Amino acid sequence: MNVSIDKFSGFCWGVVRTVQIAEDQLAAKRADRNVYVLGHIIHNPKEIERLADKGLETITVNDFDRLAHTGAKVIIRAHGEPPATYRKAWECGIEIIDATCPVVTKLQERVRKFWDQGYQVVIFGKKDHAEVLGVRGVVRDECVVIKTVEEALEHIQLDRKTVLFSQTTMDRPTFLLVRDTLKSRIAELVVDTMHDIATEFHAKDTICGQVSGREAQLSKFAADQDVVIFVAGKASSNGKVLYNVAKASNPKTYFVETKEEIDPLWLTDATKVGISGATSTPQWYMEEVREFVMTNY
Ligand code: SF4
Repeated sequence: MNVSIDKFSGFCWGVVRTVQIAEDQLAAKRADRNVYVLGHIIHNPKEIERLADKGLETITVNDFDRLAHTGAKVIIRAHGEPPATYRKAWECGIEIIDATCPVVTKLQERVRKFWDQGYQVVIFGKKDHAEVLGVRGVVRDECVVIKTVEEALEHIQLDRKTVLFSQTTMDRPTFLLVRDTLKSRIAELVVDTMHDIATEFHAKDTICGQVSGREAQLSKFAADQDVVIFVAGKASSNGKVLYNVAKASNPKTYFVETKEEIDPLWLTDATKVGISGATSTPQWYMEEVREFVMTNY
């Protein structure tokens, strides 16, 4: 059996940067200054476990009071945080180590700029995803979060100037569908002069190239295998998007979080097995899955 790893899979540069910041902080850690991370550092239990073994403790904002003025350092992960988190840390005398991905910081800045100019801000994303919570905080929650065309048509006020953004890890085809549906709905309303409609509608495709750029290569890689094992954390948004891309290309694509979830039946008669993963899947774990498949099947 030939088992290969998709060379375009694994950590994106934003995650590499975040993990490196955490590693540097842990290496320089003093006994009197603990290092924490706010929320799981990435959506991958194996990597969380590896860094926890090195002393990285995961906390929530509710722990800030307990850690106040103890010399604690708190890492903000790639997804970013709302302004309220920075304020609370400052009040508690907690040092923030900001590992927000620059792509997310840029998204927050662009959203704020439009909001400041009075636009109705629409985010195509998951309303409780950490990145979206950060963006919502930037605009004091004065935004509409939608993840389907139906929700867009139901919740967006088309009589206001509007800007549409995307969470960085959503799928582009649905984003484009939402954009085009809103555009044509506005055009219809322009014809019907009974309505006071938005004369301005902007759509900003803020889906990260680290996710969308992988789709074509993944599709090709998946089509070339008998079976694909897609490894990612169950909470990973881009994991779901990329898994669906692989599955569309090769129906014998299976999602696992750990190697123990592999069902031997999937590999019956397979001679070419491909392993791929999300932007939060560590390379070392895909290697482990590869070894596991080669040894056991
Ligand atoms: S997927 Fe893009 S936005 Fe998200 S952490 Fe990676 S580089 Fe940053």
